[in-house]
Amino acid sequence: MSQIAIIGGGLAGLAAATDLSLRGFEVVVFEKRKWPSHKVCGEYVSNEVLPYLNRLGADPLSWGAVAIESFEFSSPNGRYRHTTLPLGGFSISRFALDVHMAHRAREAGAIIHDHMEITGIENDAQGMTLIAHDGTRHGFDVVLGAFGKRSKMDKSLERPEFYHRTDYVGLKQYFRGEYPTHQVGLYHFGPGYLGISNVETGLLNVAVLVRSDALKGGKTPAQLLQEVIASQPRIHDHLAHATPILDNPLAISNISFLPRSVVHRGILMMGDAAGMIPPLAGNGMAMAIRAAQLASHEVAAYLKGQCSREEMEVRYARGWNDEFQKRLQWGRRLQRIMEHEWACNIGLQLTRLVPGGLATIVQQTHGTSHE
Ligand SMILES: Cc1cc2nc3c(=O)[nH]c(=O)nc-3n(C[C@H](O)[C@H](O)[C@H](O)COP(=O)(O)OP(=O)(O)OC[C@H]3O[C@@H](n4cnc5c(N)ncnc54)[C@H](O)[C@@H]3O)c2cc1C
Repeated sequence: MSQIAIIGGGLAGLAAATDLSLRGFEVVVFEKRKWPSHKVCGEYVSNEVLPYLNRLGADPLSWGAVAIESFEFSSPNGRYRHTTLPLGGFSISRFALDVHMAHRAREAGAIIHDHMEITGIENDAQGMTLIAHDGTRHGFDVVLGAFGKRSKMDKSLERPEFYHRTDYVGLKQYFRGEYPTHQVGLYHFGPGYLGISNVETGLLNVAVLVRSDALKGGKTPAQLLQEVIASQPRIHDHLAHATPILDNPLAISNISFLPRSVVHRGILMMGDAAGMIPPLAGNGMAMAIRAAQLASHEVAAYLKGQCSREEMEVRYARGWNDEFQKRLQWGRRLQRIMEHEWACNIGLQLTRLVPGGLATIVQQTHGTSHE
């Protein structure tokens, strides 16, 4: 029996795999996709996790990530405001970030099986047995769930989360165009919002979260994106002359921001599998990486015999809630405001009255940096 299994080779899974391997444990990661692949994501990562990534031997800036220092926000009427980001961040394609993080996890000693979907889990007195899509069975002492926002694992684990439905659709397209290098932007256009940043390839990442009815009537994601660019003045300023790169934007549906269980049937959940912050916060990836740090600490204590399994679970759930509950609440609150054009237009005006304005609001959805 190996010691630790991680279901999902996204950022939470790969960071935990590296951390726990560096601590000397045997770690196996199961990832259902064939690597490498693109993911729908805004690709901006807050610097709060940079010291921890560096400690794991991961250095996104040496992989070409673009340093991000400022933030531009625009309301549906096209009014906009800038602020310096309190901590700053970096922008890098998920394609590159996942490849480099997987490489780093393997260097640290983790075994990664890609193209291997986990379809079931059985608990017994000895530990847990994972059942893969090809029928093979794999036994472990500890299992970490890092399978993202929407996975058949939720169904197989009988988590009510599987039945959460929302109206949101996420889109991503790369563009060749001009955009201030060290800036990330968030632009509200009525039924949704659009983010822009430069990534390491010299292209612009454009990610959108939109209500699914915006795609009604047979409209394609590409047509919707063109409509959005034409309709919102500030987005138009930035993207009117930009050229799309992918044949079609990537799209995902059924995105839910409802609360989830942090520990379920003895599995410590990390990243979106534990709870997803609305993308407007630009903090989902940093939260996934930070959750990996918290989980690795507790799993290491358990496997070294410093606490019981139950204490590990309780301590992880408590640590996760202390760290993320406030940000999630702020994220959901802001998401609700963004659902109303008038509220967003007024909200932007009101940021003038808040001490620190936009930067103070950004801080509510972000944490502090940890090594
Ligand atoms: C439109 C949009 C824009 C966003 N923009 C940003 C942004 O700019 N900044 C930011 O920080 N966050 C952003 N996010 C959020 C961010 O993408 C996520 O929070 C982050 O990817 C979560 O990482 P994760 O490791 O939990 O999940 P993922 O990175 O999704 O990884 C989960 C992995 O698990 C695998 N998997 C699933 N089921 C199984 C299974 N049964 N067996 C094996 N493997 C499985 C999947 O294939 C996947 O690779 C955005 C999200 C959306 C939708």
